[in-house]
Amino acid sequence: MILSRVRRFSLLLLFLIPILAYGADQLVCQVCHKSITGKYVKLTNGNRTVYVCESCMNNSDKCVMCGFPVAKGKKLCPSCEKKAPTCDFCHKKCIGKYSRFNTGEIACNECMSGPVCARCGHPTPGVTLEDGKINLCPKCNKEALRCAACGSVIIGQYAKHPYVDGVFCMNCEKIHPKCGMCGRPIATRPVMKLAGERPICLECLKTSILTQDGMQTMLETSAAFAFKLYGMKVDHQLPLHLVDDIDLVRKDSGMPGSGQELGLFYRNGDDFSIYVLAGLPLELATETMLHEWTHAWFAENGHALHPRWVQEGFCQWMASKVLKSKGYTNGFVRLRDRTDMYGKGYRYVQSIEDDAGSPQAVFKYMKSEPASGAPRQRDGQ
Ligand SMILES: [Zn+2]
Ligand SMILES: [Zn+2]
Ligand SMILES: [Zn+2]
Ligand SMILES: [Zn+2]
Ligand SMILES: [Zn+2]
Ligand SMILES: [Zn+2]
Ligand SMILES: [Zn+2]
Repeated sequence: MILSRVRRFSLLLLFLIPILAYGADQLVCQVCHKSITGKYVKLTNGNRTVYVCESCMNNSDKCVMCGFPVAKGKKLCPSCEKKAPTCDFCHKKCIGKYSRFNTGEIACNECMSGPVCARCGHPTPGVTLEDGKINLCPKCNKEALRCAACGSVIIGQYAKHPYVDGVFCMNCEKIHPKCGMCGRPIATRPVMKLAGERPICLECLKTSILTQDGMQTMLETSAAFAFKLYGMKVDHQLPLHLVDDIDLVRKDSGMPGSGQELGLFYRNGDDFSIYVLAGLPLELATETMLHEWTHAWFAENGHALHPRWVQEGFCQWMASKVLKSKGYTNGFVRLRDRTDMYGKGYRYVQSIEDDAGSPQAVFKYMKSEPASGAPRQRDGQ
């Protein structure tokens, strides 16, 4: 962002008082800096007075700032040179217009009319264009975000997905098919597809769980983890369904579709079931299974007056435990930092544990009716 403050460069009106005189005492010519012995001219502008010898008067250029005579080829008189700011990019004095950035740096007009950094707008003297299209200063070259799909530098808007590290440029986001699991734009070809024509990225495909048996094992592992860690149990039967579209299941059961869902806990009276996307990669399956299993636990043990986002936060809190225990550090950080209801809920529930210094406080909280002043279920939550 440039905060441009341009210095008006105006030729001040000179009051030339051509007093031709001889033999003045100790006068020094402004241009050649020699003592004036012969004819000279006295020039006055406001309270500034200079003397120029006759030969310099006939053979000089004009200061571009004040119009006083200067030696041939020079642009600024000594006084203007002292006042002119130094360009932080070419380190020469700024002649005429210059720009000031909100970082305080100053760029001369000459530098500004050369190549400038596409990210911060600073001049980039001596920098060659990357790929012939985008120009970055060394600082931005180091700091700029790069698209995780195409590698190009990101300027301005970008996209982020809750289940993937890195960010994506809007172009990749627009033109590529999205992975049905993690949501990232898939830039590689050919695009692999699962049942239901769902594209899957190569990263997710590596550990994708496609069979009922494989996913059933994940569910049992989740239950065993929760039991071992906190003695949690679910008494109801928990049939597991692998599906190609969670939103479809939600709509069929009258719930609003909510975009990118990986799993779903469904309850109809005493009928409990878990739906999960077929093909989830191991890490996302680990997170999702424990999350959905925790919904089942909450249905048996939790207090229904906790609002939806706190319930989701509790399920995420349990999922965070398994991610940490498996060493899925990136997955944990993504879960922790999500900007949606799931992230907000997780941080709320984690703060209950942190404040009490014990995870047991979380269970006590989820089992009891929210105290007055605590978040509580309202219509539409
Ligand atoms: Zn002179
Ligand atoms: Zn000047
Ligand atoms: Zn410059
Ligand atoms: Zn820059
Ligand atoms: Zn890209
Ligand atoms: Zn993926
Ligand atoms: Zn949930």
